[in-house]
Amino acid sequence: MKLPIRVSSTFFMVTKQLNSAKNRNQYVMSLQTNDSIDTEKLNPQAEELEAGLSNNERELIGIFLKSGILTSKQVQHARRVSSKVETPKPLSVLCKELNFVTHDQILNALRGTPLSMSLGDLLVELGHIRRADLQLALDMRANDNSQRDLDQILVDQCLIDEETLIRMQALKLGVPFVEPDFSEVDRRLFSKAPLNWYVKHGLIPVGRESNRVRIAFVDPQKVQNLGDAKQIFGSDLLCSMTSRTYFEKVIEWVKRGSKKRESISTTESEAVRLVDKIILAAIKRNASDIHIEPSSDKLRVRFRQDGVLTFFEDYPKEIIPSLTSRIKVLCDVDITEKRRHQGGRILYEYPEGELDLRVSFYVSIHGEKVVIRLLSRKGMLLKIDEVGLSPQILEQFKKGALYRPSGVILITGPTGSGKTTTVYSCIHSINDPQTSIITAEEPVEYVIDGITQCSINPKINLTFQETLRHIVRQDPDVIVIGEIRDNFSAEIAVQAALTGHKVLTTFHTEDSIGGLIRLLKMNIEAFLISSTVVSVLAQRLVRKVCSKCSEPYKPTAAELQVLGYTTDDIVEMSFQKGRGCSDCLHTGYKGRIGIFELLILDEFVRNAIIDMKTSQEIRQISIESAGLVTLLEEGIYKAALGITTIDEVLRCLPWLQRPRPLQELRRYLGGL
Ligand SMILES: [Zn+2]
Repeated sequence: MKLPIRVSSTFFMVTKQLNSAKNRNQYVMSLQTNDSIDTEKLNPQAEELEAGLSNNERELIGIFLKSGILTSKQVQHARRVSSKVETPKPLSVLCKELNFVTHDQILNALRGTPLSMSLGDLLVELGHIRRADLQLALDMRANDNSQRDLDQILVDQCLIDEETLIRMQALKLGVPFVEPDFSEVDRRLFSKAPLNWYVKHGLIPVGRESNRVRIAFVDPQKVQNLGDAKQIFGSDLLCSMTSRTYFEKVIEWVKRGSKKRESISTTESEAVRLVDKIILAAIKRNASDIHIEPSSDKLRVRFRQDGVLTFFEDYPKEIIPSLTSRIKVLCDVDITEKRRHQGGRILYEYPEGELDLRVSFYVSIHGEKVVIRLLSRKGMLLKIDEVGLSPQILEQFKKGALYRPSGVILITGPTGSGKTTTVYSCIHSINDPQTSIITAEEPVEYVIDGITQCSINPKINLTFQETLRHIVRQDPDVIVIGEIRDNFSAEIAVQAALTGHKVLTTFHTEDSIGGLIRLLKMNIEAFLISSTVVSVLAQRLVRKVCSKCSEPYKPTAAELQVLGYTTDDIVEMSFQKGRGCSDCLHTGYKGRIGIFELLILDEFVRNAIIDMKTSQEIRQISIESAGLVTLLEEGIYKAALGITTIDEVLRCLPWLQRPRPLQELRRYLGGL
């Protein structure tokens, strides 16, 4: 127990002396040599260590030793190496090559202290350019008539990229390099001067930190404009630098925003800012939905991320009317209507691109609850190989269903189970110039080139029934019906398949057998179902173990008992669990993967349907004859491979019967 006390008191003493020491670098050096007294017989003194170093090296090494990222022993070692290499290298570059420090550690240590060396020297010392290149650029500047400055010459000669250069300039000036998230940039700050002023002065306000405005310069030459900036944003502003790309994006973003709103009140502009902030934060977190919920005393905003609702922020209830109006303006619905449910869409433009948003207003006792669904971007269309089907199941699905010329393919699952993504990935995989694909969707969620898509719109009487009546007359090869929701759409699907079409559609049922049973209950003849439906793919989404913080994990005997397994059953399996990190917001999960149950209708299953067997009987026959692997079994298998967890499987997947042993499942599913 004595040791820690002694150490901490020594530490206290040292810190005190350190603060008063004139030359802190020297002090730290002597402190560190004292530390290594046992291992090192000869203690290099500070003077000895610095002898023969250039001023620039002395400045950098001093900072590195002071911040503790290098020890004097390491510096000594690097210098010995340096004396032996043929082509001399800067000391900090050598220390990186010797794995004493990383580049990030060096940058962190240098951050916040203005450096006295020139920018050119800094670039050389940190290994961004060679000494010879710097000399070349300096010579060019001396002989250049165009009066380009050194920075410009370095960039023009491709000796360094602009972004690195600006980062290095920020480092030299001792100011931070910032590129804050757009949701943090307050567009209202720009109203203090005309937009041209910011462009001319090469600076933008990027946010507020405890009532001080932070500005970012894009060009170190423009730092002389600091005085002008102080007149506008106050004398105690915070200075930083940013990249040209970021600077230009922000200017463009503000320009677009100011076109949309002229002469609006402060609460309105506050609402505009808030809506931007909420949507941008949701995009950044990869949320699928935004819930904006009024209650008696506040407005709560939550995001659905990886299928789970998570708290974002609360706001005072006074903001509710202006916030709701702002969203209504964006999606062009009746702003005065507050007593009826409404729906609309927004094409939301933001600096990195644009996004389709589907908005629903639901009248509640405390005002309108707004749910915004962030529709997947076009670029995120997957191929069927990418949705997460196990290799053997994928092959069966392609051969037994997707690539067959005709028949109904049903994709089933509850809302938010990823059905739509799977349907689109099917379309994407069979879309070619020889095939005519036509859809009736409510609404179209991805736009795919080369196919005909129709968005159902009951408001103008473009109903599902009306659309389906016309769809077969369009001479299609493949018909995609968004969802089977009634007898009529079920009949159309079956009729189209009977006349030789391939029909892709979704159905809202628990599992694959449930899909068949529901069709039977819709008064469709059993023999029609058995002869047209080729396959039913049931699916769910489960959260994936976060790859950044996953660790091997052995399920306990109790956990295994729930599944009917013993510890012997899980040998050779690699269960994983997320410890929780900042990347996964300490949940241990990041992203989701599909869990599938594929039923390909073989002769035995067809007969079972015609004989009107019960769902349990059909299920048993499917497992025995058609090799059906249930949702639960596929989930457990993916947990055994370390992709998800048993907790997640039990939370998300239906338990209809006891799962088979993992060794047996391996035969049906193969590795991943
Ligand atoms: Zn994590």
